[in-house]
Amino acid sequence: MTDYPHLLSPITLAGVTLRNRSLMGSMHTGLEETGDWGRVAAFYAARAKGGAGLIVTGGMAPNREGGVFPGAAGLFSDKDTANHRRVTEAVHAEGGHIAMQILHAGRYAYSKDCVAPSALKSPISPFPPRELDEEGIEAQIAAIATAATRAVEAGYDGVEVMGSEGYFLNQFLVTHTNRRTDRWGGSYENRMRLPVEVVRRVRAALGARPVLIYRISLIDLVPDGSTWDEVVALAKAVEEAGASVLNTGIGWHEARVPTIATSVPRAGFAHLTARLRPEVGIPVITSNRINAPDVAERLLAEGAADMVSMARPWLADADFIVKAAGGRAKEIAPCIACNQACLDHTFSGKLTSCLVNPRACHETELVYTAADVPKQVAVVGAGPAGMMTAIVAAGRGHKVTLFDKADQVGGQLNLASQVPGKEEFHGLVDWFATMLNASGIALRLGQQVQADDLAGFDEVVIATGVTPRDPGIPVEAGSTVLSYIDVLRGAPVGPRVAVVGAGGIGFDVAETLVQDGVSPTLDAGLWREEWGVSAPWEDRGGLDPEGPKPHPPARQVHLLQRKAEKPGRHLGKTTGWIHRASLAMKRVRMQGGVNYERITPEGLWISHGPARDQVELLAVDAVVLCSGQEPERGLSAELERRGIRHHRIGGADVAAELDAKRAIDQAARLAARL
Ligand code: NAP
Ligand code: SF4
Repeated sequence: MTDYPHLLSPITLAGVTLRNRSLMGSMHTGLEETGDWGRVAAFYAARAKGGAGLIVTGGMAPNREGGVFPGAAGLFSDKDTANHRRVTEAVHAEGGHIAMQILHAGRYAYSKDCVAPSALKSPISPFPPRELDEEGIEAQIAAIATAATRAVEAGYDGVEVMGSEGYFLNQFLVTHTNRRTDRWGGSYENRMRLPVEVVRRVRAALGARPVLIYRISLIDLVPDGSTWDEVVALAKAVEEAGASVLNTGIGWHEARVPTIATSVPRAGFAHLTARLRPEVGIPVITSNRINAPDVAERLLAEGAADMVSMARPWLADADFIVKAAGGRAKEIAPCIACNQACLDHTFSGKLTSCLVNPRACHETELVYTAADVPKQVAVVGAGPAGMMTAIVAAGRGHKVTLFDKADQVGGQLNLASQVPGKEEFHGLVDWFATMLNASGIALRLGQQVQADDLAGFDEVVIATGVTPRDPGIPVEAGSTVLSYIDVLRGAPVGPRVAVVGAGGIGFDVAETLVQDGVSPTLDAGLWREEWGVSAPWEDRGGLDPEGPKPHPPARQVHLLQRKAEKPGRHLGKTTGWIHRASLAMKRVRMQGGVNYERITPEGLWISHGPARDQVELLAVDAVVLCSGQEPERGLSAELERRGIRHHRIGGADVAAELDAKRAIDQAARLAARL
């Protein structure tokens, strides 16, 4: 008997029977553009082996102008078809199924050749698009249908037509981007003509059997977005035109509402799929912030959907379904929705990977082979770097002892989990603890390790982390100065606070200080109010016309930095704007270009500019130091003095801008070599 009877039950789409109801959602990994198709095949085959019911590839361009960026991968030639065949054969050899997503970016294409229904530039691209004429529209439809035919020739079990997220087909649907007055614009019937025609032509090109997924935008989250009646009308028309299943899309890329970040409530948009399901006769797939088998199972059991799409969770753990089916759900490495190694990489032109699983997209290069000679390995520090080293080394057959002076594992991850909106970090610490336990690692907690304790080990790994940096601001007696550690551990803080340092931790601390009561991440209704999300059956595009209604801040907070630039500029590429917007909504006063003069019981005295002649008082009850960290190297220095060879990783190695992504990656790579 399984805990996930719905998730693990088969489903037939068109003529294809899938072994379960999990869909690995489309993600652009950048692997195709490396030209190493063996690597692409290994990435997808690992997920097929791990039990994915149906894999959808990253978006493939139907033609050059539709590519997300110049040189984006597609299926343009026989050589491309042969490359893609390597992928489909590898997936089929593992008993999986795979569909190719056809993604025409329209005005989102990062290219001067981009095309769109109307010549309206998107706010997230520097390139104004060219308005297509009748002939141009026909050329795009034909290209999409041809790409679908080639996909099936390459062995794909079907295609997904990307109709959401504000891409080309979505751009025809709404007046926000479609100002045409011909048969492709004006009335809704005209505006939906293109997506429906695309589906009809793709189905005609494919014949009856291959799966045709249409990804439909259920809530646009942009001004003048679709109404619910329009969404339903499109869903019915697309079904009629030959789609075999509808996948859910949430929000356009230009929307100013987070849709997949870690602060978005789990399954926070599944109610929309649930509402669509009774309107159509074909299966529907739900999506967004679903990262655990129990959440997927609940949604299916409640009838919210017929299948569940998870994308990033398949980066975090390639064996998601195999572990769920084998009673090992706790061993599934959780996607914490941080975007740090996946979307942030994609949008910086780097290869995708995963913070919790550095092997993602590096399957052929980072390989954990059995150790030739099992060694005794000591790892000091049970933060992310130390835990990852221990788990990978033990998995390779080494005998590992993991020490920490604290009486629990997790290190700084335990602090992150205290931040409202970062609740997923609890799951990450739990996963590490489960894996440490399952790997037979000897845990020595509550032990301050001395150099003598490390005698007799073949390998010593120092992962002692960081200590908070003292910014050296003069402090008068009677002032209240706290570190971020005090605050995140729950120290009492007065109603007016200045935060010194506006890095990732300064932002986290500010978010903690302004939040009162239940975290909106744990209450979808509250979260929607905070971000101004309404129901698309009430307001066009699901945007509350009155805008966001943030709850009042719990405190008055100043967030400061010395650099004369906008605070938060160096936060994650895809998430920084969310943190900045959250704090702005809570009226946090963010300032750059600040000199810290002194701290007194009255507050923090600051000045601006090199002259430092005009000093002003920020009247606050407490100053919280978030001024970065220094490596904790006491033990490492002692080992060096004694000439004892050791490896130093994570924050103990380099503290500057250290984060868990770098720590875990460095740890995994070291442990793979030990
Ligand atoms: P950080 O990002 O390096 O920021 C340190 C802050 O302290 C900066 O704002 C810096 O700005 C200030 N600072 C540095 N030296 C100072 C000094 N001597 N006196 C006063 N201010 C000083 O470090 P962090 O905030 O501690 O974060 C550590 C790591 O964890 C970072 O890599 C961060 O990205 C990561 N993290 C990430 C997230 C996330 O959401 N992805 C969240 C939390 C932490 P000025 O020099 O301009 O004053
Ligand atoms: Fe999830 Fe973060 Fe990994 Fe991306 S990097 S897959 S968001 S855990």
